[in-house]
Amino acid sequence: MRPFSYERATDSGAAATAVKDHPEAMFLAGGTNLVDLMKLGVARPATLVDITRLPYDRIEHRADGSVLIGALVRNSELSGDPGVRERFPALAEALLSGASGQLRAIATTGGNLLQRTRCPYFQDVTKPCNKRTPGTGCSAIGGLHRDLGVIGTSDACVATHPSDMAVAMAVLDAIVHVRLADGADRTVPLSEFYLLPGDTPHRETVLASGDLVTRVELPAPPAGAVMRYWKVRDRWSYAFAVVSVAAVVATTADGTLREVRLALGGVAPVPWRARQAEQVLTGRHPTPELLRAAAQAEFAAARPLPQNAFKIDLATDMITTTVRHLAGGRQA
Ligand SMILES: Cc1cc2nc3c(=O)[nH]c(=O)nc-3n(C[C@H](O)[C@H](O)[C@H](O)COP(=O)(O)OP(=O)(O)OC[C@H]3O[C@@H](n4cnc5c(N)ncnc54)[C@H](O)[C@@H]3O)c2cc1C
Repeated sequence: MRPFSYERATDSGAAATAVKDHPEAMFLAGGTNLVDLMKLGVARPATLVDITRLPYDRIEHRADGSVLIGALVRNSELSGDPGVRERFPALAEALLSGASGQLRAIATTGGNLLQRTRCPYFQDVTKPCNKRTPGTGCSAIGGLHRDLGVIGTSDACVATHPSDMAVAMAVLDAIVHVRLADGADRTVPLSEFYLLPGDTPHRETVLASGDLVTRVELPAPPAGAVMRYWKVRDRWSYAFAVVSVAAVVATTADGTLREVRLALGGVAPVPWRARQAEQVLTGRHPTPELLRAAAQAEFAAARPLPQNAFKIDLATDMITTTVRHLAGGRQA
């Protein structure tokens, strides 16, 4: 591992300045992703700025039903919070489906949002990768891509975003609070926070150097809504999603879908909000035919590769099952 210096930030301004003024400096939160990438030689910061003492470690439930989650709240604390479990159960389910108990006790909300892809070629510094080293090519497209993306990808990159938590936050209409490197505060809807790869897969979010995620806000869910996060993986625990679906569903008395929100993991470079499917379903009865048509509408723009086209069928089945059961008031 390359030698690096370590400093502990005492306030957000100092943290931002330390990173902004030093292109090779990076924020360190739980370190469960960044330190692994340093060991692999993928991340090579000269300085780590430890942000874990900054005052962003609270979960604040507000009277309007929304919640404000500090960027340094640990994944275990968030998944165990009684208010989150009661009112945002899909978020608790997503968190508990990720990593291991030990990792969740260290991993933070901000770090989870900003974890890097698990594409094996991104993690292997001996292989070309446009995301790691722009302009070198994508090894995955002609290589092993069974676990990689089918939608939102580009000719430059087919990596997927690995976070379970972010998929649940996408369906909950999360808003990311950012302290910009110049000291100003900004909020960014999660739907605008991540960037699709296009020709610049190394640019993954709207954040600039030194911008610090401080909190994530979840608005109150729609009245009467039920929700769930369902993750399919190759083994029962300690594995990233092959495909995951997060859904929020509210129905009228006659079973019409008053509001339906869907997000997908494991299929795209970003937590994928399935707005085409939502549009097909909203205001209708969730018949099996309509649910299948909704998934088809979502994946009309998909670009599957030979080894991962199965993800479209899998996601279609998961959307169908999840919405049908939530609309019936049952868990799938
Ligand atoms: C073996 C293993 C299995 C895993 N399985 C899963 C899984 O199944 N599902 C899943 O979702 N995740 C999984 N993870 C990933 C894990 O959830 C992440 O590693 C973790 O959430 C990252 O959080 P952290 O606080 O440790 O981030 P760090 O590693 O400290 O940071 C990650 C990145 O975010 C940046 N950063 C951190 N905080 C901020 C901030 N506030 N503002 C701006 N930038 C910031 C850092 O500079 C760094 O670039 C797994 C990890 C491991 C090691």
